[in-house]
Amino acid sequence: MTLLLRATSPDLLPPVDAAVPHQRTAADSTALSTAPAAETTDVAEATPTAANPGDTDSTDTPSIDATPTDAAPAAEAETVAPGPSLAALPAPRVPDSEAAAVTAPSGETSDAGRTDDVIPDEALGEELATTDDTDPANPSAAIAQTVQVQRGDTLITVLVNAGVSHDDAYGAIEALQDLFAPKDLRPGQEIALTFSAPEKQHQGPIDFQLVNLSLQPSVDRDLQVTRALDGGFTAFAIDRPLTHRTVAMRGEIHSSLFEAAQDAGVPVAIISAAIKALSYDVDFQRDIQPGDTFEFVFDRLDDEEGNLAKPGDLLYASITLSGKTYQLYRYEMSDGFVDYFNPKGESVRKALLRTPVDGARITSGYGMRNHPILGYSKMHKGVDFGAPTGTPIFAAGDGVITKIGPFSSYGNYVQIKHNTTYATAYAHISRFAKGLHVGSRVHQGDVIAYVGATGRATGPHLHFEVLVNGSQVNPTSVKLPSGSKLAGAELNKFKAAMNDMISLKEQIEAAQLQTAQGTVQSPDCSAAPNYPACQ
Ligand SMILES: [Zn+2]
Repeated sequence: MTLLLRATSPDLLPPVDAAVPHQRTAADSTALSTAPAAETTDVAEATPTAANPGDTDSTDTPSIDATPTDAAPAAEAETVAPGPSLAALPAPRVPDSEAAAVTAPSGETSDAGRTDDVIPDEALGEELATTDDTDPANPSAAIAQTVQVQRGDTLITVLVNAGVSHDDAYGAIEALQDLFAPKDLRPGQEIALTFSAPEKQHQGPIDFQLVNLSLQPSVDRDLQVTRALDGGFTAFAIDRPLTHRTVAMRGEIHSSLFEAAQDAGVPVAIISAAIKALSYDVDFQRDIQPGDTFEFVFDRLDDEEGNLAKPGDLLYASITLSGKTYQLYRYEMSDGFVDYFNPKGESVRKALLRTPVDGARITSGYGMRNHPILGYSKMHKGVDFGAPTGTPIFAAGDGVITKIGPFSSYGNYVQIKHNTTYATAYAHISRFAKGLHVGSRVHQGDVIAYVGATGRATGPHLHFEVLVNGSQVNPTSVKLPSGSKLAGAELNKFKAAMNDMISLKEQIEAAQLQTAQGTVQSPDCSAAPNYPACQ
């Protein structure tokens, strides 16, 4: 558990990834791209083919871990940064023996959904502030403390570790029972606690009493538990009315799209979703020129003061590069799968990703090379991406897992069959994502495993193969199948939704021109009945 010492703050923002179904957030990619890439290569090519591994390879591989793997993703570090103001506050006493006794992971909260698997365990649970700095000789009248739920925490362990007595913790949880089930606790959630402190100095340990607990099970709901005069606890809910708004924002790019969009006030989650969707067509390293422009339309939920409470979905993104415009529309297909499509109804996604790991760079390409361990020339039948141990590996495309487990010099290995022709393989994995087995269906971008150095590898990296009809091909040059194309009734439905989006966008732009200040306007549902927010 991580303890955050800070003022009890109501402006708690939800996790940004909530806004982007089926998409990884760029918070991930930003964080991971700052991690040092490992100068490593592997030797999986010593096995002739994935389908028929040469098991003549000895398994007594020298394990040379030459790469530091202490690069925790920056996004995690950000979420545990202590607040600036209250670091000097005395924190409640933690009974050492009890704290130690309850820190064992219980697994009760591990049903928090697959997205949790994006975060490697290694990155969690950095303790930035502990309660050891309690100064019992100088307690203040009230002590505010915010704790952040970590994976494996239960409500009772969180409270007790934060210094709440067992009686108070059980009392508070009991008071909450009609409003909040402890199993709904999610990693990353924050719980604000207020303790009373004794008015005068005591001998021996000081009993801090819990006087208030608050948590937000959702962005529009605030739960409060307060100590009643009789010493028991009462709980109540405060619902925050949130206003749904649809926003259009545009701007000119001077250095990077990210910077320009941030300057225009676009929430980071929306920028991330846009970059992710556009990156299939745009090489952000090379294609952007000063003077290029962008426009995004997205939903947001605002609180009563008009402040962003939660970003919604990116509905439309366009970017104009040297006069050429790319447009993408968010569209939910009849089967419920959401994707971004160009005006022709073509999915922006390719059927296969060439780089199934964020922020990694190629450390060894496909082809003949001098073998780093065996010392002679060998064919390298995949591409190596250097990345720290624990970096998430994504399914390169939709498909079914056909192999998962240890596999000769490949170490821990996954193979996904995408269709009758194409398969992809992933080697040297440190561990697999939970719940996957042969026959599991995966979507492109799902986390399937984490980078490691198992099997014959000189350091942590992903060895990635693309197989066409069972034989490895060069992943960087093979012509990949295109993504899905809408047709028939589905295409007609998409065109109707696209036309609604276009008229909605025109309305918003006209209204913004009129008010000549803002960027915010609500949708006119009479003009856009098919628009999701109008249904
Ligand atoms: Zn390799």
